[in-house]
Amino acid sequence: MSNLSIALTAPNGRKYEQPTGLFINNEWHAGSKNNKITSINPSDESEIVSVHAAEPEDVDKAVAAARAAFRNPEWRDMASSDRGELMYKLGQLVEANKELLATVETWDNGKPYQVALNEDLAEVAGCIKYYAGYADKIHGQVIDTTPAKLAYTIREPVGVCGQIIPWNYPLAMAAWKLGPALACGNTVVIKAAEQTPLSILVFANLIKEAGFPPGVVNIINGYGRIAGAAMAQHPDIDKVAFTGSTVTGKEIMKMASATMKNITLETGGKSPLIVFNDADMEQAVRWSHVGIMSNMGQICTATSRILVQESVYDTFVTAFKKQVETVSQIGDPFSDSTFQGPQVTKAQYDRVLSYIEAGKADGATLALGGEAYKNVGNGKGFFVTPTVFTHVKPHMRVFREEVFGPFVVIVSFTDEADALAKANDTTYGLGSAIFTRDIVRAHRVARKIEAGMVWINSSQDSDFRIPFGGVKQSGIGRELGEEGLKAYSNVKAVHVNLGTWL
Ligand code: NAD
Repeated sequence: MSNLSIALTAPNGRKYEQPTGLFINNEWHAGSKNNKITSINPSDESEIVSVHAAEPEDVDKAVAAARAAFRNPEWRDMASSDRGELMYKLGQLVEANKELLATVETWDNGKPYQVALNEDLAEVAGCIKYYAGYADKIHGQVIDTTPAKLAYTIREPVGVCGQIIPWNYPLAMAAWKLGPALACGNTVVIKAAEQTPLSILVFANLIKEAGFPPGVVNIINGYGRIAGAAMAQHPDIDKVAFTGSTVTGKEIMKMASATMKNITLETGGKSPLIVFNDADMEQAVRWSHVGIMSNMGQICTATSRILVQESVYDTFVTAFKKQVETVSQIGDPFSDSTFQGPQVTKAQYDRVLSYIEAGKADGATLALGGEAYKNVGNGKGFFVTPTVFTHVKPHMRVFREEVFGPFVVIVSFTDEADALAKANDTTYGLGSAIFTRDIVRAHRVARKIEAGMVWINSSQDSDFRIPFGGVKQSGIGRELGEEGLKAYSNVKAVHVNLGTWL
């Protein structure tokens, strides 16, 4: 193959061609300065491969391609059902290539292969197909005013969308953003996170294979402060959609303000999970475990603060620890028995370890874990033991700050009012969960929780058909579901005078 692709063999023995360039106009390009991003296998710290990193000049090139495609009648005037067909074909291609995509995802990100295959890739294909179905069902309204006026609205694409995605669900985050953008007829420049640059480049080949016109989807890798910042400020990008940390979200908001871009931000969280004393305790324990320990705790909606009513606190803590010890099997992510792989990077691993020290220093009780784990493979890799702190107080950093790891704090509360006060005692407002058998209380508390999403008697069972997003400092706007289409379309009002001059 060309020098923008390299033959690799993944740890599971799978051989494939890994693209390494920038995907612009359905072609592979080298970065203008030949700067590279090196992908590291988080399981053993070995280098996988280096890929091209976009500079601002490359972002210009990608944006110009997206702009030309947006104006090109081949895309602009394509029948909406044909746009849906293209998207559906892309969804089918993802399904046909799911083992390869999951392999690359696991190698680069460290998530268990079975999870990548059966959860992430199912979500990618499902989300793209779901939005494919919407492509010809996006329409305006006729609005009745007076007999002398015909007024109607048209739902139009926003234009060129810059999409900046994180490393925790690389392909799923791409699908969440590409699905609604393409259904509405936008064109896209999407930048993957520098920590996980590989799977999206394999996915890029499927865009071309599906038959999207050149420039409709442009896929780049690049460093946030260089390529990401160039996108957030770019005068010819109409909208920027971002998922990542709250700190970066705020910077993007500032940068995007100069050209008053339409923005969607999905940022951090410190989501509460409330267990009332009438809850089905076994269910509460199982869902709480999944709610924080899956994906190595690297989930923006992770229910990382478990609030348990005093009378069942000790029972819950004992059962929760047992669940972690039984289910949170740490190991090689390519092994089918592994529940927990490594943290994605050394920076994230160090971050989790530093919060373990913060918890101890603030006087919380370390009830489980709290260490680096070196018993996998070559003894390297960014593994940490699942960590549980109990007797945590709201002033402690581990109660207030997002850790983004297999790290949970368990706090007690007295009654419903105390539970709500503690749940809402945060600058974040992304996910939340309630466990109770009292249906009236469940709905009452759901209304009072300051969060974009509430799970009653579950956690993390998000679905691409249901809106996703936060309040407070967890974000602006909604992704997924029908609501997600609003973020990628503008409403134009047309006034038709059916009368005469006044
Ligand atoms: P980040 O927010 O810095 O990075 C996310 C994306 O933004 C990446 O694509 C990155 O290249 C880009 N980016 C970074 N700086 C930018 C800038 N100045 N302008 C434009 N784009 C920029 O996240 P991180 O540093 O990888 O992780 C730090 C913390 O963020 C994590 O520990 C976690 O708390 C949080 N996080 C949250 C999510 C989420 O899903 N909400 C995902 C990843 C990380």
